[in-house]
Order: sequence, then C-alpha cells, then structure tokens
Amino acid sequence: MKILVASAWPYVQSVPHLGNLIGSILSADVFARYARLKYGKENVVFVSGSDEHGTPIEIEAIKRGVSPKSLTDQAHEYDTELFLKTWNISFDNYTRTESEVHKSFVKEFLLGVSKYIKVEEEELPYCEKDKLFLPDRFVKGTCPYCGFEDARGDQCDRCGRLLTPSLLINPRCAICGTPPVNRKTKHWFFDLRPFSESIREWITSSPDMPENVKGTALSWVNEGLKPRSLTRDNSWGIPAPFPGAEGKTIYVWFEALLGYLSATLEYFQRRGETERWREFWENGKVRSYYFIGKDNIPFHAVILPAMLLASEKNYALPTVIAATEYLMYEGQKFSKSRKIGIWIDEAPLIMEVDYWRFLLIRMRPEEKDMNFTWTEATRIVNSELNDDVGNLVNRVITMVNRYFQGKIPEPRNLGEVDRKLLSRIGQTLDNVSSMFEKGKLKGGTELVLELARETNAYLNEKAPWDKIKTDVEDASNTLFVASSAIRAIALMLYPVIPEKAKMIYDQLGLDITQESWDNAKEPLKPGHIVGKPTPVFKKLPPEFEKNLNEILEKVRKEVEKRRPALLK
Ligand SMILES: [Zn+2]
Ligand SMILES: [Zn+2]
Repeated sequence: MKILVASAWPYVQSVPHLGNLIGSILSADVFARYARLKYGKENVVFVSGSDEHGTPIEIEAIKRGVSPKSLTDQAHEYDTELFLKTWNISFDNYTRTESEVHKSFVKEFLLGVSKYIKVEEEELPYCEKDKLFLPDRFVKGTCPYCGFEDARGDQCDRCGRLLTPSLLINPRCAICGTPPVNRKTKHWFFDLRPFSESIREWITSSPDMPENVKGTALSWVNEGLKPRSLTRDNSWGIPAPFPGAEGKTIYVWFEALLGYLSATLEYFQRRGETERWREFWENGKVRSYYFIGKDNIPFHAVILPAMLLASEKNYALPTVIAATEYLMYEGQKFSKSRKIGIWIDEAPLIMEVDYWRFLLIRMRPEEKDMNFTWTEATRIVNSELNDDVGNLVNRVITMVNRYFQGKIPEPRNLGEVDRKLLSRIGQTLDNVSSMFEKGKLKGGTELVLELARETNAYLNEKAPWDKIKTDVEDASNTLFVASSAIRAIALMLYPVIPEKAKMIYDQLGLDITQESWDNAKEPLKPGHIVGKPTPVFKKLPPEFEKNLNEILEKVRKEVEKRRPALLK
C-alpha cells in the first residue's frame, strides 16, 4: 500500500502564522513522518508547494510597479527556507505553481476533461484605468445596510453582511479609486452536477473520513452542485488552454488542487522514474491523506474529487481529509494588520522549534476552535514535555547506568504489573496508529503522554532505587520494562519532535533511522548498552511570561529586517 500525504498549498502573499502552520503543513509533516516509520520510506510521498497565481498578488505587483513573478520568487524562497530548514518539514517535494511541470500538467488535465466544461457570458466590474476585471473584494464602496463607506464587494467589515459589488453605493476600484464599469465577459465553467451521486456515495462510504468533512460535503451535494467558474480575467496565472479563451487564466483554486498530482509527478521525474508517480494516485492501491483548514473543505471534498472523476483515469479519491478548526491567539483572531499572533519566522526566535511543534500539535484544533495562550504553552512545555517525558527518560537512563553499568538488565519472573506495562506499550503503538490514521494527531499524542504518566507511576510504585539493595531481580525487571517504554515513547513522539526524539534515541544507544513503528513493540534486548543521560528538555523560566512583551518586541524588529518586501 502506498501513502500520499498532501498539505494545502500556502498562498505566498503572506508569511504563514502559527494557525496556518498547524492547519496544514505541520500536521501533514507529523503524519508523513509517522507513515514512513509505519509503512516504510519508499511507500510514502509528501507533497505541497507555493500557491502564487491570482489577482491579490497581481494587484500587489501593480501597486509596487514590479512583476508578480519577482514578488513570488522572493516569497517562495523565503517560505521554502523556513519550512525546510527552520521547521524541519520533511517534504519529498515542495514546489510552486510556476513550475513548468505544474503548468503543463494543468493544461493537459483541463483539456482532458473538456466535455464537462462549458462557456457562459457574465457581466463583471471592470476598471478602465487599470484595464482589469475586479474581483469582488477589489471593489469598494458604501454598505447599503449600515452606511460604512469602506465596505468590500464581498462583505462589509462593519456589519458583516455578505455583499456583491452591484449592491455597493458609489462603487470604486480598490486600486485606483475610479468607479468601475460593468463589462460583458465570457467564462469557462466546470460542471459539477454529473458527479453528485458519485461524490455522495464516496463520502458516505469512507470509513475514516472525519465527520466535519462528511457534513460539509454532503450539505453541498444536498443543496445541488452547480457549474463553477474555472477561468479569470487576469494575466498572472496559467493561461486558459481552451479555444477562444485567450487572455484568461485558470482560477487559482482549480490549478492549486491539481498541484497535488503535478507535484507527485515532478518528484518522480526528478528521480528519473517518470511513470512511478501513478503508483501514488491509483485507485485501490493508495491511501491519501490531506491536511487543510476547515475553510478549504468544499474544494477538497467536492471539487477535487469531481475533477479526479472527470479525468476518467482511475485516480484515488482522498482517504482522509483532516480539516482543522481555527486556532485563536489569546482569544482573538490572528491578524496581520493588527499584529495579533505569532508568525512562523518569529516563533523560532522565541523558543526551540521542537517545543513549538509539540505545543502546536497539543493545541491542534481537531474538534473545535482552540485558543493559544502563553500560559497554556508554558504548561505544555514545562509539565508535559519536561516533566512527563524528559524527567522519565532521564531517570531511567541514569538508573540503568548507575545500577547496571549501562546494560539493559535481563528480566526474570516478570510480575503482573511488569507484564501489564509491557503489553500497554504494544497497545499504545496500535492505538496511536489508528488515531493518526483518522487524522487525530492531538488525540494520538494524548495516548503517548498517558503511557509516559503510567510509566512514571510504575517507577514510583516499584522504586528500583530501593529495591536494588534488597531485590536485584525486581529492580532489573523494572528497568528492563521502563527502558522499553521510553524507547516506544520516544519513537511515537519522533513525528512531532524529531530532533529531541533523536537525542533520546542516542541516549538509548539506538539509531532512529533504522527504526520502524512495529519494532518498538518488542522490548529492548538484555545486554544492550545505553548511552549517558543528559537532560533533553528545559523548562521555560518563571520570568518568561513576565518578559514576554520585551521578547516579542525584539523578535519583531529582527524579523522586519529579514522579511522580503512582499511579505511585510
Ligand atoms: Zn455594513
Ligand atoms: Zn482602478
């Protein structure tokens, strides 16, 4: 069985914030690392890329008097470096929508589904000065409901009502301020209607698909699917390949979704194995996992499956679409303009990336919106990571060194509590697997922490530091079992905290790159020699929260210097 891991493509107009990161890329990375341990590296491919086309970036480029490509080149380079080097995201291919492989794949794909594509005429707002059709949010004017003078054509920011550009009083172009005119234009539409029943059947019979995804997809299908506009009247994008569509581009949403396929193709092309990408897309032979924010559910649970079905190439539909709810920051929405939140180029200047990776997964909004607070972040690092995991590892490796010259002791006549904990190790590995494979990463880590707490309680109950003086056999049994438990705990945490888990493995005298998920069900071999103990985690100091404002101010100044122009 092949495993495809796909993360939503970040739009490169801004640096992702922590809420974006946990919703897609970090979650996908944790899953990809898990899947490689469970199913073997060669059976897993993890793809994503920069989504860089479309009107928002084109308009930004017009404002700055530069080409859109020069803006997205900078942004793509900056984001890629952050993902790969700073955040340790283990992409097999992180590409971009400007990639030639992607552009030609999209053209070919759309020509292949042309029987589901039709042309319709529409009237849309057009700015004669900028020579541009204006997307809804680039028309501004007075809200007809509340009188707010700076309402956008899609929504009023004051009263929150949904709008269309034609409802606005005194509409004007958001770029230059002149009133737009209505101009007729033709657009190409992808007809979703023929796929209603297949999508309904697929989504209702997908055993591991999360309920929030099923619910949203079914409500779309029940309301009746409609043709969706596939083209846009702008120039920054992939030229629409249809006869008569000169000057139009493909709507970014359609092409970014096809990026999952083109990025897989590009990965294998680079390896000189051009045809192998199909192994990761063939229905019945692959399980595919998509990590996205909840606002993207309709695109992944309705539009992508419809396109895959339309191609008639037997492509696999998604197995699991893991769609997170929202992460709030200290009770508020992340906001770039109001500087509310932490961005992914800021966070690593505040504390180590593995701490962030762990606490973000622990705050992952799996069932409801979650609220990031510094108090909770501190609690997670200090109590879960440092106390529950770090102290446990340190105690066990120290005692194996002190009482058994660094050798895993030979177990003899294991008692009931010993055997119980040994069997809990195997159970936990299986339970975490099944949580992860339902897209529940926070849920999975909860089980790992439970095992750590049980192992701590087991140590306290069995007190090998006393027993070593009176009952060596019992102390041996205890440290044999506890060492096997910390090895499994480190393995299960590896997808979340790869650097720290590797340190624990080093201290256990083991090589994480030689490890597999199911290996850890077997206890460690008696006589195996462990390394020397050193603390793996540190607590955040008590004054951390008090000095936070100062720390954040310094970090923001530093980041301001590093960020490329488009991203400021
Ligand atoms: Zn209003
Ligand atoms: Zn204008």
